[in-house]
Amino acid sequence: MTYRSKGALKFPKPVPSKTQKRKKKAEKGQWVSWVRERVFERDNHRCRVCHKRAEEMHEIVFRSLGGLVSLNNSIAVCRACHVHLQRHVLDVVGDNANEEMQFVLHVDKKSGW
Ligand SMILES: [Zn+2]
Repeated sequence: MTYRSKGALKFPKPVPSKTQKRKKKAEKGQWVSWVRERVFERDNHRCRVCHKRAEEMHEIVFRSLGGLVSLNNSIAVCRACHVHLQRHVLDVVGDNANEEMQFVLHVDKKSGW
């Protein structure tokens, strides 16, 4: 006697197909551009740090640290400020991008500023 009844323990392996992966990636891309549009609108296409024309979007909690691409976590910035933010020469004070934020410049770090 075996415990294996026909088909009862057959679960499909949760391996996404290439098409599914591609679809997921495309959906993520759509989400990012949707958020990007809203963020730029909210920030009037101006850099939240220096008020120059914004070109990029920055996540306050880095995506690499689990930060989400969302309106709360994203601000519009210019390229120069984005580089400084990524190098932590410039840090964001506050965690809600929908509210007024402050920025701290660390002059002790060699920034070239
Ligand atoms: Zn800037």
